Amino acid sequence: MPETALDVSSFSKALMLGEIHEELVFPYPIPSGEEADKVRELVTAFRDYAADHIDSRRIDEEAWIPDEVFLELGERGLMGLYVPEEYGGQGLSQSGYARVFEAIGTADGSLTVALGVHQSIGMKGIVMYGSDEQKERLLPDLAAGRKLAGFALTEPNAGSDAYHVESRAVRQSDGSWVLNGEKRFIGNGGRGSVFCVFARAELEDGKDSHIALIVERGMEGFEAGERYQTMGLRGNDLRPLYFHDVRVPPENVLGEPGEGFRIAMDVLNNGRLSLGTGSVGLAKRLVDLAIDHVTTRRQFGRPLADFDMVEDKIGWMVSYLFGLESLAYLTTGLVDAGLEDYSIESAIAKVIGTEFVWYQANRALQLKGGEGYLRDEPYERILRDIRVFPIFEGANDVMRSFIALSALKPLGDELKVLADTDLADPLGTLGAWASYVGGRLRREVRPDSISLAHETLSELADPVAGQVKRLRSVGESVLREHGSGIVDQGMTHKRLAAALSDVYAQIAVLSRATSIFEEQGVEASGQERFIADTFCRRAAHRVEVELDKIERNDDERMHSIARLAYKRGSYGYALFED
Ligand SMILES: Cc1cc2nc3c(=O)[nH]c(=O)nc-3n(C[C@H](O)[C@H](O)[C@H](O)COP(=O)(O)OP(=O)(O)OC[C@H]3O[C@@H](n4cnc5c(N)ncnc54)[C@H](O)[C@@H]3O)c2cc1C
Repeated sequence: MPETALDVSSFSKALMLGEIHEELVFPYPIPSGEEADKVRELVTAFRDYAADHIDSRRIDEEAWIPDEVFLELGERGLMGLYVPEEYGGQGLSQSGYARVFEAIGTADGSLTVALGVHQSIGMKGIVMYGSDEQKERLLPDLAAGRKLAGFALTEPNAGSDAYHVESRAVRQSDGSWVLNGEKRFIGNGGRGSVFCVFARAELEDGKDSHIALIVERGMEGFEAGERYQTMGLRGNDLRPLYFHDVRVPPENVLGEPGEGFRIAMDVLNNGRLSLGTGSVGLAKRLVDLAIDHVTTRRQFGRPLADFDMVEDKIGWMVSYLFGLESLAYLTTGLVDAGLEDYSIESAIAKVIGTEFVWYQANRALQLKGGEGYLRDEPYERILRDIRVFPIFEGANDVMRSFIALSALKPLGDELKVLADTDLADPLGTLGAWASYVGGRLRREVRPDSISLAHETLSELADPVAGQVKRLRSVGESVLREHGSGIVDQGMTHKRLAAALSDVYAQIAVLSRATSIFEEQGVEASGQERFIADTFCRRAAHRVEVELDKIERNDDERMHSIARLAYKRGSYGYALFED
């Protein structure tokens, strides 16, 4: 990536301003040769191990992953993938990590989530914000799988609104902190040894803020409660955690007191991206299963594959997956290139990845027919396992608001529409997220066109410039119309987020296709060109529809019907008398 590339701190925030910083996203990021070899070795090591030792059905039925699995995966280097080598890890980049996790994602949902909690969020804060002493003390055991990590943010009264956690840490005269509170839904809850716990704390200047603490199993007053019984991911040890006067020594404070919420958000940004790339891995497996079935199963004297509506489903799966994969790995590339703020792109990958894989699993089961409903087939387990993906690590609707508000913030600042508005009010958490993540947009103004796409792609690239212009103009008009009240316009958030996601996805596909053409030649890449073409045309259409809907909709009717329903307290429109 050229040096000038980092003249903007967020690619998508700049899109909302009407600028395309194409030097950030062209050429498409492909991991280096040396790392690619290492990734291949780790993927092979995982696949070999999983073939002999991971029995998804058994994990689901016994609701347990044996301890030795984590140790044996640790011996193979799979428990500390991005941990620097000096602390016993593999030192992979974000893209390398995601590639290995794709392979893990195809094997078993519970294992993927247990490893994801451990690596993507549990110990990520230590790697990102830990002191040298904390890294030396904690990372070698975690990277070897001798210890498991967890991430404890959610509480009974603070789920999506994580800013308002109620757990509290109080500083003692000896520099330690006494922690009291309760967390719920914590992965690896009963078997983790190292938890990154977030609480409120009064700072030395008297300000009430957040703190991140490393709480270790065995600390007095810390206990895990009874395990939750869950719909899927049954091998994930999910529990509440209780803290009764837990004394946390000063050497276990992560970052500075006051940085707790920023640390939580930065870690979750990363975790969300992993959910996006993990969805790519599972989606590939589902496509393969679907293709295998429809090409072998015959009805009405022909393979299912021949029917129009079956082709519609498979064509959608393949083309959308191509777009999702392009977007997810473009984003890991942005992280590896050192882009300061990838919060919007990572939320986009999480939202569209988890929604896509959910609908795709549904359609794959549909194509399998009655057999798809049987428990000895993988579909029902996969559906149970992935149902939570759009809920955890930021519920998708909350993420939609986050994407839209974060993207609108710099535009609002520029137009001075939000000049005296703290986005933190009244939608507390979301506004706070928007300003916590990445801070102010740093940038140099750039044009709204794409010049780096391959010349044969101009028919697809040129319309993107028009969409970006329209994004800005719609963004301006909603800001002028609603001012600070924009925080309450959820339906506008939803549509803006969808439009921005599809603009970003088209750019990702154009970048990927350009790299393929340059490497293999246009002639030889006809199939990729066809898929890229299809994805971009469909995405461009979706952008238009979403932006149109911001201008013309029946939202008022939806508000009225919902409010009437709340008043009635039930559906209440009786067709028959009971
Ligand atoms: C299997 C599982 C594993 C988990 N693992 C962890 C973990 O390891 N660590 C951890 O800290 N937490 C974990 N969680 C908690 C998870 O992150 C929360 O459940 C999630 O953030 C949602 O919070 P909530 O359940 O309190 O739902 P709520 O915040 O009550 O929201 C419920 C629903 O309301 C809607 N909603 C909420 N706010 C808005 C809004 N502003 N606009 C529109 N719609 C909205 C959304 O549809 C949302 O799904 C886990 C949960 C599960 C089920």
